[in-house]
Amino acid sequence: MKSDIQIAQENEKKEIQAITKIAAKVGLQPQDLELYGNYKAKISSAAIQKATAQPLGKLILVTAMNPTPAGEGKSTVMVGLADALQQLQQKTVVAMREPSLGPVMGIKGGAAGGGFAQVVPMEDINLHFTGDMHALTAAINTLAALIDNHLQHGNQLQLDPRRIIWKRALDVNDRALRNTVIGLGGPSSGVVREEHFQITVASEMMAVLCLAKDRADLKQRLGQILIGYTYDQQPVFVKDLHAQGALTLLLKDAIKPNLVQTLEHTPVIMHGGPFANIAHGCNSIIATNLALHLGDYALTEAGFGADLGAEKFLDIVSPKLDKKPDVAVVVATIRSLKYNGGVDLKDVNQPNEPALSAGFANLKRHILNMQHFGLPVFVAINRFSNDTDGEVQLLQKLCQQLGAQAYPVTVHQDGGKGALELAQAIIDWSQPASYHRLYQDQDSIEDKITQVAQNIYGAKRIIFSKSALKQKQLIEKNGWSNLPVCIAKTQYSFSDDPQKLGAPQDFDLHIQSLVPDLGAGFLVVLTGSILTMPGLPTKPAALQMDIADNNEITGLF
Ligand code: ADP
Repeated sequence: MKSDIQIAQENEKKEIQAITKIAAKVGLQPQDLELYGNYKAKISSAAIQKATAQPLGKLILVTAMNPTPAGEGKSTVMVGLADALQQLQQKTVVAMREPSLGPVMGIKGGAAGGGFAQVVPMEDINLHFTGDMHALTAAINTLAALIDNHLQHGNQLQLDPRRIIWKRALDVNDRALRNTVIGLGGPSSGVVREEHFQITVASEMMAVLCLAKDRADLKQRLGQILIGYTYDQQPVFVKDLHAQGALTLLLKDAIKPNLVQTLEHTPVIMHGGPFANIAHGCNSIIATNLALHLGDYALTEAGFGADLGAEKFLDIVSPKLDKKPDVAVVVATIRSLKYNGGVDLKDVNQPNEPALSAGFANLKRHILNMQHFGLPVFVAINRFSNDTDGEVQLLQKLCQQLGAQAYPVTVHQDGGKGALELAQAIIDWSQPASYHRLYQDQDSIEDKITQVAQNIYGAKRIIFSKSALKQKQLIEKNGWSNLPVCIAKTQYSFSDDPQKLGAPQDFDLHIQSLVPDLGAGFLVVLTGSILTMPGLPTKPAALQMDIADNNEITGLF
């Protein structure tokens, strides 16, 4: 099998279409676009405004069971399913996240689908694209520099340097910057204080960009960001520094969604990309709303397993969208079922129906969870070459017992035609969803976390660390309790322990800390040891990458 980059480059050369042509498919004119070369464009704010007059299409949420460390092909299946819907003459638009360079250079490789179900130009998308990540990184660090400059020049706001919570960022997996000291070198080089870098996609500013309705809302949210506390523990916001104008200016292009295409020329609006374990994990609201107005079907993806990504999509993002989701597609792989059934990662390619049945407990809980939110569930069985027909049929049967239709998809190998059956079943589905949230924002912090922990994760109780309890009291005292909770948790398990595979039950969920992300408008609840700045593995993907004299790129998966 050829690599993703080989397939992308071979097909791009032959078939990639001018982005103006892709735009025309959904009624966008050349003047609605700001071109970045021939194959990428930003969509203008005026065009977005104009599109709101159009009726809303159906919203398909693509999510997954708990993954193996290799990823289960969520993006791949979403792209292939969109191509299948397009083959069935449905006007289809994908809304998806922009990749972060950190994981691309680390272990994951590209994040624009895979095989024959990819978004192109793949190499641009996975590297610098239209510069959104760089703009965000610049805005995040400008804010940090303005904070340190304020300390340097008299500290009129009386910010306590030990209580500054705003962190610098880089879109690189650089563990050496997790804990550092800045301001060394004497009085002219700043005030000495502890600093902790995050990866750009874990920063609140990424979440702010993705949850903003428009530029005015972006500015308002940026002003609301909490940067720290004074010596007498009073909150200090970006608006106290008067920095929201400059930050909005730095993000003036990043707020505009990007238009690209799949290998089969389905329009893709790619915009924003918060991490799903630490942040809310969904592309921008602007992109999803626009996809809904431009297409009869809009597809969007919620990062990692449905416990993390889909829960946040349904509890945090959906209430802010122009349209509630109509169906959920849960991506499952035979290998991940076996992995969750206790098989070692190196043996998951061997046929093993008993392990598959045991690991089904994981998928089952995800299916029931999505049904609990009131969504009809379709399971996409992302087929790998080692999967046997017997295993696939067994999985279909198990899913049917839960009222979820399951279809094998072969989009990685076949493109859109590998998901025609699933696409047709979704088109034929006529029953409306009865979507509802799990909790109300006015519930207490403890109740909100408990609702998710017990109903989605299967936990027995939640346990706050001493410092988390203190933070909770501070949040309550400041009147910030009425916000949804964004629980940061490992993606490998329903619990806070990545080793607990399958469907663990009645465990304790340990709350380590609470962070008010007031610009994003949620409370981040950190469980277990979640890193907001990943490190690189022993053999980083970057070491396989190269570009030859003839411009051929290798190693970008
Ligand atoms: P996720 O969105 O779940 O993280 P991706 O769609 O990014 O996963 O896919 C992860 C990797 O797995 C990609 O390199 C992709 O090419 C590969 N992949 C996905 N599905 C298949 C498949 N059916 N067969 C072989 N490789 C696949």
